[in-house]
This record gives sequence, structure tokens and C-alpha cells, in this order.
Amino acid sequence: MTEAPKTNLVGLTKSAIEAYFVGLGAKAFHGRNVLKWIHKHGVIDFDAMTDVPQKLRDQLKQQAEIVVPKIALVQPARDGTTKWVLELADGQHIETVHIPEDNRDTICVSSQVGCALDCSFCSTAQQGFNRNLTTDEIIGQVWLATRELGRIPTNVVMMGMGEPLANIDNVVPAMDLMQEDLAYMISKARVTLSTSGIVPALNRLRDLSDVSLAVSLHAPDNELRDQLVPINRKYPLEQLIPACKNFISSDKRRKITWEYVMLDGVNDSISHAKALIRLLQGVPSKVNLIPFNPFPGSDYRTSPEERVEAFRQRLKRAGIIATTRKTRGEDIDAACGQLVGKVRDRSRRQFKRIPVVQEHVQ
Ligand code: SAH
Repeated sequence: MTEAPKTNLVGLTKSAIEAYFVGLGAKAFHGRNVLKWIHKHGVIDFDAMTDVPQKLRDQLKQQAEIVVPKIALVQPARDGTTKWVLELADGQHIETVHIPEDNRDTICVSSQVGCALDCSFCSTAQQGFNRNLTTDEIIGQVWLATRELGRIPTNVVMMGMGEPLANIDNVVPAMDLMQEDLAYMISKARVTLSTSGIVPALNRLRDLSDVSLAVSLHAPDNELRDQLVPINRKYPLEQLIPACKNFISSDKRRKITWEYVMLDGVNDSISHAKALIRLLQGVPSKVNLIPFNPFPGSDYRTSPEERVEAFRQRLKRAGIIATTRKTRGEDIDAACGQLVGKVRDRSRRQFKRIPVVQEHVQ
């Protein structure tokens, strides 16, 4: 007889772990205590959980496990950013990035191994899609970062590898755990899901979670967006924009963050800015301009700094809050769109790389 697979407790939300413990014939509060041990105290050894009765611990050891991702490689960048390449139980690799700033620090979390969406300017796309991450693999990245840093990060962005809304069933419980009082206690305003715009999943998300929303817009019209973000052919702007408005409609103070990668000569002219202003009329918005981060094999170039600034000023004049994202972790391929999830020998590539110097405007 083969043994039933053990349940990994790392991915269970409060209600799920309570139900699991009740299913074992134990009290729900023991489940809550174990959740606290795992996420608040970082304890993954059942025997160290001193308030769990010995008999229950023995039962847990038989039927459950606490498995977190392993660090395959740590890469510190010159600017303080750190990239962790993590190895999952099946040998796959994903990347998690820590970005410290003056008054906050952000963890950039992956939701899939690879990505199926094929955005033309993103290096994860080149790797293709491999599989969805499980809830424990998603929250496991926050668990690991918290242990490595010795503190809970202030912000989490679902902006690593993959499309979170293509894995909504595993992403939502992980984001619940990020916000859970017994776990990381990060407020909903500081947990951000970034999507390229899978409209039906976005409509579902509205009923499941009220985290902050960032949308990878990158173009002000369908013709251009079809090329840059091919999922636009399925869910064009006339569907995406109302779905985004609807997502934040429950609270007047909420805004959508529109991500807009600045590609030299492609989407960065003043007429693009004007079209963007028209598109976002009546939508509570913030625009985050992202200087394109080059990677080997990409044909795009980064927009010159003056053009990014002119674009930003044009949006500002129209009353739209617009910021330019600082590129971080560039020297370790940890910047937006550079995550590829492979452990490989970079020594040769590093030699060949032409350093790109970017000055950034905040
Ligand atoms: N799938 C999600 C999360 C992706 S990564 C999404 O599409 O939103 C987070 C952001 O980085 C997205 O806005 C993405 O479009 C952007 N990005 C991808 N490649 C990039 C690159 N090479 N340079 C700058 N930004 C990039």
C-alpha cells in the first residue's frame, strides 16, 4: 500500500488549517497556533512547537509536513537589491527579489514557473510556461524572505515571474496569508497584484480579494497593445478598462496603478501620452513609467531619460499622478522583466554584457 501524500501546512490559510485540524480530530485553535509557529516564528520543526500536545505532534509528523523552498543561489546587487533563486521540490527554479528603499522594503514574488503570455519585451516570456506555483510555493517566498531578512517586508508585489491571474486559485490564498494577523499582517494596501489583464479572472478577483491592483498597460491603443501584450487580442482595452474600474469601485480612495514600460520609439511619444490621457479619463489612476530593462536577445531599447520625463510631465499636466520606476538590481538581472528562473553560469555573459547606465527620476 502506498502512503497518502503528506499535506504541506505552509500553504494553508487560517480557515483551511482550522478545517484540517478539525479533520484530524483536533481542536481548531491548535491549527491557528501551528500557523503562527510557521509564519510568525519561522518554525518548521513540529517538535519545537511547544504548545502543541505531544500526541498531536506525532500525528502531524505522520500526516503533514512543513516544506519551504530552498535557496539555490543568492545574488546581492550593488544597490542593495537581493535576488534569491529558489529551488522547488521538483527541481524547478523561480526567482524572488528584495528591494530595500529608504522607508520601505518590497519583496517581488513569482506566481508561475515561466509564463504563457508572451509579452514581447519580457525575458520570462522567452522561457515559455512551465507550471503554476502552489500556494505554499508562493507564500514560501515570503516565508523565506522574512527569515533571510530577519523581519517582515513592508510590501509585497506579485510582479515576479508569471501571470498571477492565470493562477488565481493559488495566488489568492497566498495573498490572504500575507495579510493574515496570525502570519505576516501586511495591509491590503501594501500587497499588490500585477496583471497583464485577464479580464474574467479580474472580475472573479473582485469577489475574492481587495488587494491593490497594478495593470501592465504599456500601450494606449489596441493596435499597439496587441503587439506588446498579446493577451490584449483576447481581452482588448474596451473590456479591460471597465473591469479595472469595477475592481476598485467599492472604495473611492482606491486607484489603479498602470504600468507602462518605456520603449524607445515604440510607445514613448507625446502623442502616446495624449492617447493615454484620453484612455484614462474618468479612471482613478496612477501611472508608473518603467524604463525598459534590456536583456540578451531583446531588440527594444530603453527610452532616453528626457523622453521619459517629457512623457511623465505631459501626464502630470493632465492631472494624472505619474512616477518613474527606479531600475533596481540591474547588474544581477533582477530588474523588472529580467527574471528567468535559471541557475546558470553567468560568468561569460557578464563579460559580454554592455552595461546600461540609467539615471532615474522619481
Ligand atoms: N504578469 C504580470 C507580472 C509581470 S512582471 C504582469 O504582466 O503584470 C511586472 C512588470 O514588469 C509588468 O508590468 C511587466 O510588463 C514589466 N516588465 C516585463 N519585462 C520588462 C522589461 N524588460 N523591462 C521593464 N519592465 C518589464
